[in-house]
Amino acid sequence: MSICMILRCICFAKVLKIVITFEKVIKTFFIIFYELKGGGVWNIFCIFVGMKYDVIDRLRRERSLADAELRELLVSEDKGLIARLKEVACEVARENFGREIKSRGLIEISNYCKNNCLYCGIRAGNAKVERYRLSKEEILECCEQGDALGFKTFVLQGGEDVRHTTEWVEDVVREIRRRWPEKAITLSLGERPDEDYERWFAAGADRYLLRHETANACHYAQLHPEGMSYENRVRCLQTLKRIGYETGTGMMVGSPGQTVDDLVMDLRFIEQLQPQMIGIGPFVSHRDTPFADCANGSVETTLRLIAILRLMHPKANIPATTSLGTLATDGREQGIMAGANVVMPNLSPVKDRKKYALYDNKICMDLEAAESRRAIEEQLKVMGYYLS
Ligand code: SAM
Repeated sequence: MSICMILRCICFAKVLKIVITFEKVIKTFFIIFYELKGGGVWNIFCIFVGMKYDVIDRLRRERSLADAELRELLVSEDKGLIARLKEVACEVARENFGREIKSRGLIEISNYCKNNCLYCGIRAGNAKVERYRLSKEEILECCEQGDALGFKTFVLQGGEDVRHTTEWVEDVVREIRRRWPEKAITLSLGERPDEDYERWFAAGADRYLLRHETANACHYAQLHPEGMSYENRVRCLQTLKRIGYETGTGMMVGSPGQTVDDLVMDLRFIEQLQPQMIGIGPFVSHRDTPFADCANGSVETTLRLIAILRLMHPKANIPATTSLGTLATDGREQGIMAGANVVMPNLSPVKDRKKYALYDNKICMDLEAAESRRAIEEQLKVMGYYLS
């Protein structure tokens, strides 16, 4: 190659760099303009220069966007743009997990709860709930069944039951670990003192799910009773991460009082925490709670959030939740097509399932664990996926 050619190449590269920098300046300018003018100008500009689709590629590449752009993805009525968002998210899930959908065997160990969260069907104040608590032996039987069905992870979830002492849970975890050394044990038992989290980890638990529910402290206070605080929830999540748990968090989508800006705050919170699992599902009302008459969350917004989260966190485990399947017959399938890679079939004894009604019309209340797993397996097969 002649010197002249090399000089031309250098020159071209420099011009290209200037053009890219110029493009970034223009974009930043319009994002600021968007913030100032409430969105309209940005929209027109995007349509004009055909930049809308570039946003999705940028989200995939840079794993983040400006607040205004995230907001736009959540409210946009551009069907083409949203179809592309889900398509790219699904593509990224396939790059990371292939055609595998991971199963987690959910065991609902107690519906006693000392808390009075305004949205939750098993809140302490709901006197209509028939309460139950599984014994250690019953939990182990659920695990036996789960093992026989091929589950590699057991998720022990429950209300904040005061009878679940540090020692009792520790003993259950230790026994599961002893019997199934190769399984993952996930706990989802709410906010506890640091010492409990530490002892359960030492006994063999390796993952913990604790949704932050909303990253807006004022909104958190609207959803929870006095005595519960956003600060404490965040503190618990940080402790769990520090101890070494694979940590899961997430929010309810469309909970009463939630705004689009709150959802952007949720995305930022998750971006900062970098959890290994992200569980989000639509809010579904329960007839015996203060939110009985509130509208359910949107399936569509939940799907968009799954897709955005998949692009922001390519390797995170993101379930297609039961609440999504409750509000839309094919909700879980749609979740997978938007980038989810986990399902959580129920291993709890059928006799107690109906009592763990967090919201109305919860699905899979009557199916035995085996049937439940088989039904999901078949659905996945039709879609070209397999359950692991
Ligand atoms: N006590 C544990 C905790 O607080 O994390 C686990 C049990 S709690 C019932 C599990 C999750 O159920 C909550 O994090 C919440 O997001 C979800 N949930 C409760 N009520 C709901 C509702 N009405 N609609 C949708 N999800 C709900």
